[in-house]
Amino acid sequence: MSWESNVRKVVPYTPGEQPKIKNIIKLNTNENPYPPAPAVAERLKSMDVSDFRKYPDPTCSVLVDAIADYYKVDKKNVFVGVGSDDVLAMAFMTFFNSDKPVLFPDITYSFYDVWAELFRIPYRQIPLKEDFSIDTEDYLTENGGIVIANPNAPTGVELERDSVEKIIAMNPDSVVIVDEAYIDFGGHSVIDLIDKYDNLLVVQTFSKSRSMAGMRIGYAFGCEKLIKYMSDVKFSFNSYTMNMPALELGALAVADKEYFEKTRDKVVATRERAKVSLRELGFEFADSKTNFIFAKHPNKPGKEIFDELRKRDIIVRRWDIDRIKEYLRISIGTDEEMDKLVAALKEIIGA
Ligand code: PMP
Repeated sequence: MSWESNVRKVVPYTPGEQPKIKNIIKLNTNENPYPPAPAVAERLKSMDVSDFRKYPDPTCSVLVDAIADYYKVDKKNVFVGVGSDDVLAMAFMTFFNSDKPVLFPDITYSFYDVWAELFRIPYRQIPLKEDFSIDTEDYLTENGGIVIANPNAPTGVELERDSVEKIIAMNPDSVVIVDEAYIDFGGHSVIDLIDKYDNLLVVQTFSKSRSMAGMRIGYAFGCEKLIKYMSDVKFSFNSYTMNMPALELGALAVADKEYFEKTRDKVVATRERAKVSLRELGFEFADSKTNFIFAKHPNKPGKEIFDELRKRDIIVRRWDIDRIKEYLRISIGTDEEMDKLVAALKEIIGA
C-alpha cells in the first residue's frame, strides 16, 4: 500500500494544441478568426489594475444581467462560468447523481466521458447513425441524465429542434443538457423551451461566435430551480470562478449585437465557400451548421493529410478513434486562410 492507492486516477481530456510558433494557420480549436467586439479593447485600455486588489463579484451580476438582457430571460434563469467547460462540469456534478447511466452519443464532445469518469457517473455512449445523425428513439430509455451537443462536435451535424424537444419532453425525470457551443452558426436554439421544461439546461459559450475563447466565459439557461441547484454547487466549490476583466468584458461583448451578427455572418459565408471548394477536391462531409467542417477524403488517409498539412504549417484536428480516424475537423478561418488551406489540400490530394 502506498498513498498512490488512494489517488483519484483519471485519463484527462486532451485539448487542441496551442502552438507557440507564429505564422501558422491555426484551424484546430474552432476559435473565431476575428477579434472581439470593439468595446472590449476600449474597456481593457481603461481598466484600473488597482481594482484587482479586490475579489470579483461572486454573483457575476454585470455579466448575468447583460446575458439576461440580450436573450430576454430573467437573470434567475442564467448561470455563468469559466468557459462552457466549467459550466458543463458544474452541471454534471449537480444533476447527474443517479445510479442509472447518463446517455450521450459515441461521437461527440470528448470531455463528456472524462467528466463522467472524474465524478464517478455511470454513462452509456450511444452510437450515432451511419450518417452521424442521432436516433431520438435511443434516448427514450431509462437514464440518469442526457447530454447532447447541438450542433454536434466534431461532426457539425444539427439535430432538428423538434427532435431535441422530443428528447427533453420524453425524459421529465432526468435533466437534459443541450450543449449549444456552436448554435450561432446556423443551428436552432432551444433556449425558449426553458419555461416549458423544468428539466432543460441549455449551455452556450463566448469562445466561438463571440471571439473570446481566451477570456473563458460560458453560460447556461434553465428554470430558476435548476439554476439555483447549480449555483449551490458552484458556491460549494469555488465562490470566485470568474475574474473581474472577464465579467466586465464579457458584458460589453454580449451587448454589441451588430458586431456579433457581422462577424458571425462572415464566418458562415466563409464556411459555405469552403464547403464548395472541399467538395470540388472530392472531400466528403455531413452538412455543417458550425464554424468547422468534419471531412474525409476517399483516396487519402486522414493521418496522411493531417501530417502533410502540418508540414505546411496548417494545423487541423484529428482523433485516432476507429469510427472517425479518416476525418479531419477543420475550423473556419478567414477567407484568406481557407484559400491557403484549399491550395495545400489540392497539392496533397494531387487534384
Ligand atoms: N462544448 C463543445 C461541444 C465544444 O466543442 C467546446 C469547445 N472545446 C466546449 C463545449 C467548451 O468550450 P469553452 O469551454 O471554451 O466554452
